Amino acid sequence: VQLADLQYDVHIGSDVYDLFSTKYRQLLSSADQIGIIADETVAKHHLPVLCNALQQAGVEPKLKVVPSGEQCKTAEVYIDCQSYFLRENFTRQSILIAFGGGACGDLTGFVAATYMRGIRFIQCPTTILSHDSAVGGKTAINLPEGKNMVGSFHQPSAVLFHTDLFQTLPPREMRSGLAELVKHAFISDADWSYELLRKENFTSPSVEWLSTELLKGIQVKADIVAEDTFEHSSRKFLNFGHTFGHAVEAVYGYGGLSHGECVVIGMVYSLIASEQYGEIESSFTNEFIDFAKANGYPFEPVHEHSFEAFLPYMLKDKKATFGNMHFILLQNLGLPFVQQMTIPVCHQIFDELK
Ligand code: NAD
Ligand code: ZN
Repeated sequence: VQLADLQYDVHIGSDVYDLFSTKYRQLLSSADQIGIIADETVAKHHLPVLCNALQQAGVEPKLKVVPSGEQCKTAEVYIDCQSYFLRENFTRQSILIAFGGGACGDLTGFVAATYMRGIRFIQCPTTILSHDSAVGGKTAINLPEGKNMVGSFHQPSAVLFHTDLFQTLPPREMRSGLAELVKHAFISDADWSYELLRKENFTSPSVEWLSTELLKGIQVKADIVAEDTFEHSSRKFLNFGHTFGHAVEAVYGYGGLSHGECVVIGMVYSLIASEQYGEIESSFTNEFIDFAKANGYPFEPVHEHSFEAFLPYMLKDKKATFGNMHFILLQNLGLPFVQQMTIPVCHQIFDELK
């Protein structure tokens, strides 16, 4: 990931933790202390893998275990982490390691961004979805008033994506992360998009296939982040499917459905709008719906609620300005653009989606 003033590498594979003893030995030894913030479930399954690799590199890390998944992105857990590292005498020269999915990565990144005004951190992501979230430097926690509303941009020093850890991922989390892969394809490459939709056993792929495909997704994200780190322009394209998807997620109370499952519904919504404002064919939208249903992505939310249930959340989107809703649509596959849409148009697209 090449940014204006810094760069870092993203590694993917089953031997990436060996890099602690080689490529990253110097980075680790430049720290007076190393702290791991670990998702509780991930720690239970996989902590020895990480700790053994760190020990090989001569590191004895301090460990802070946090609640699994989204439960860790609270102000309470955030303060608890800060206090813990203060009590352990961490300094500006210390380094944190995030060990978990996107939620743990977002929390750890924000703890690192703000601990003594900012220290370094390493991402060791453990979900498919975190091929998206671990790259790009967005960090945040949630407030009762809204998700990701307190945060900052803080880039990791490295991202080490260990593919063996996926073996314990529940099928729903697998589906969730693969939805973001489809998003990366839709906004960047028509041929790749068709390949994904026609892939057999899409939600139970081999590790080799996953490694190659996630790397492609990471490259899309890295290129966009390099071009527009602070989301003034093209980084908005990564939000494809998310304006309506976030509304679905909010109505379902963060937990009923996974993030990626909500984004799939959001992508169908955006494809329907793209038929109107771009050149997407309805046959493609239908192929995507068939693909999603065949792979177990649920569509109940569309039938269980009226447009009015989703609208307030669409208007609350961070990308909405002055009450206008901005959607990422596709001129064609691989060609995203920003389109402002009025409430009546949004309503009409919802009716079509239904
Ligand atoms: P998650 O971190 O909430 O993890 C989902 C569940 O999977 C949790 O219960 C967790 O304990 C479990 N889990 C994680 N790894 C596992 C493993 N290897 N084996 C077994 N269980 C495992 O989910 P996620 O989908 O990775 O991340 C979602 C979060 O990412 C959201 O908070 C979202 O806001 C954030 N996000 C951030 C960005 C960004 O750019 N910073 C981008 C997209 C999403
Ligand atoms: Zn997402």
